[in-house]
Amino acid sequence: ASRRPYRGRFAPSPTGLLHAGSLVAALASWLDARAHGGVWLVRIEDVDTPRCMAGADMAILQQLARCGLQPDEPVTWQSQRGHLYQDALDRLVRAGWAYPCACTRADIEAAWAAHGMVRQRHTALPYPGTCRPERGGLRGRPARAWRLHVGRVAASLGLPVPLPWVDRRLGPQLQDVESTVGDFVLKRADGLWAYQLAVVVDDAAQGITDIVRGEDLADNTPRQIVLQHALGVPTPRYLHTTLVRGANGEKLSKQNGAQPLDLRHPLAALAAAAEALALPPAPPNTDLPQALQHWTHAWRSRWTAA
Ligand code: GLU
Repeated sequence: ASRRPYRGRFAPSPTGLLHAGSLVAALASWLDARAHGGVWLVRIEDVDTPRCMAGADMAILQQLARCGLQPDEPVTWQSQRGHLYQDALDRLVRAGWAYPCACTRADIEAAWAAHGMVRQRHTALPYPGTCRPERGGLRGRPARAWRLHVGRVAASLGLPVPLPWVDRRLGPQLQDVESTVGDFVLKRADGLWAYQLAVVVDDAAQGITDIVRGEDLADNTPRQIVLQHALGVPTPRYLHTTLVRGANGEKLSKQNGAQPLDLRHPLAALAAAAEALALPPAPPNTDLPQALQHWTHAWRSRWTAA
């Protein structure tokens, strides 16, 4: 079978500087690209503008450069690619696969409460489909968000329900997107593009063949695969890496106080990331390029099929 040439990416959201957890995703995606003799891109995912921190994009690029992780092509910013997301939404609307929604979070909770269901801590209720066109649409209420009609896409394209997909580390996975998340948002009520749409459009536009990212994003993957089918673009291979957890057992994140990487010791930061990825330590007295090469070899023997 002819394979598209390997193209991978690291796609940080510039909500703060890189920390030990985000460096693991950066290093893993870089190593996988190098191990495959492929191309590695960096894309700044700054669609959620209220959460972005001024200057964090340039600071992240500097952190990566200090760690020897240089993108092979010019960096892209999602904030400059709104026209691509609009084109994709227009196509979905024309196909009858996206629809406007007037529901607030309170409306969604009320709709489920009427069926005796309440939201659990940390989990969102699936969208109950209140504004689906076949249920009367907006019924005179103002449109807020745009949603993907998951059931229609699946039925029109004959997608299996639940949707199976494969992760290179986690193995075969299965998710019923409609019953677990429902018709998810493509364009938010505040007018901003949703991560799911932007990431799928960009991965396709940039010819990404392989996505390597943190395991916290694994349960987003089925949504992204449904969108890939709806937009008629290929599904990349996926590898979700282990998460680095803080002392409290939670995922390391800026929200729970992860410190930015110490740029005075890039090799030490990389060594910690490599350890989190269960790669063998670099021999003593190796410099940064040698250490990266050492881990690339280790990664190749572990993660690339002959
Ligand atoms: N921008 C996302 C994040 O920083 C990552 C998106 C992705 O790798 O698909 O969590």
